Amino acid sequence: MDFEEKRRKLVEILKNRDFLTKPDVIKAMLKVPRHTFLPKGAISSAYIDSPLSIGLGQTISAPHMNAMMCELLDLREGDKVLEIGTGSGYHAALCAEIVAPDDSQNPGHVYTLERHLELAESARESLFTAGYSDSVTVIHGDGTLGYPQEAPFDKILVTASSPKKVPPPLKEQLTNGGILCIPAGSKEWGQELYIVTKKDNSFDSKRVTGVRFVPLIGKYGFPESD
Ligand code: SAM
Repeated sequence: MDFEEKRRKLVEILKNRDFLTKPDVIKAMLKVPRHTFLPKGAISSAYIDSPLSIGLGQTISAPHMNAMMCELLDLREGDKVLEIGTGSGYHAALCAEIVAPDDSQNPGHVYTLERHLELAESARESLFTAGYSDSVTVIHGDGTLGYPQEAPFDKILVTASSPKKVPPPLKEQLTNGGILCIPAGSKEWGQELYIVTKKDNSFDSKRVTGVRFVPLIGKYGFPESD
């Protein structure tokens, strides 16, 4: 079975389980080659709905989690997106496929921050190979500080678990009317996924479901040695 066929089958599974409902998210999941973002040894598992190791103790999230977070963020063509936790670069590519599709007259952009230099470099390479280097900028640094140079952002996606619901710089860097999706609550077990919306400088947060992510490490995250 080729990768395209495997991807189609995975998308069918995610649609049947109601993780995928929005046409532009479905289109992105059908198009972005997850296998391109994986270490060689994991490629045969690329289209299984499971998180996988990408080295340095980090993971690429399970595809149903990518789908769920993209849908919750209500990504729109033209959006400026900030992702904290580039990891493999796959989720950033999915976002880019939605906010800056090939034929767009109004392309958005994805800025993504990764604290591990090695992962930032390999994500940049994978994004180039998969054709997303114009629509995604990978930055090496502490994402809990956000990316003030390009703020404000229409959507913010955090892919590591934060001690508190929202690191203060990310609150400031969200547009009025913007949406932020973040796992929070603990380093390991007992994390919850939240969707936070900003309106007239007040924040409304809703719990979505229990989740398990790697910890967010940084100034407004967990300390490195904790
Ligand atoms: N979105 C990724 C993907 O598509 O592969 C999965 C990300 S992985 C679950 C979480 C990532 O967040 C890890 O690569 C980790 O190094 C990174 N991370 C943790 N704390 C961070 C911080 N303060 N700033 C930037 N990246 C951070």
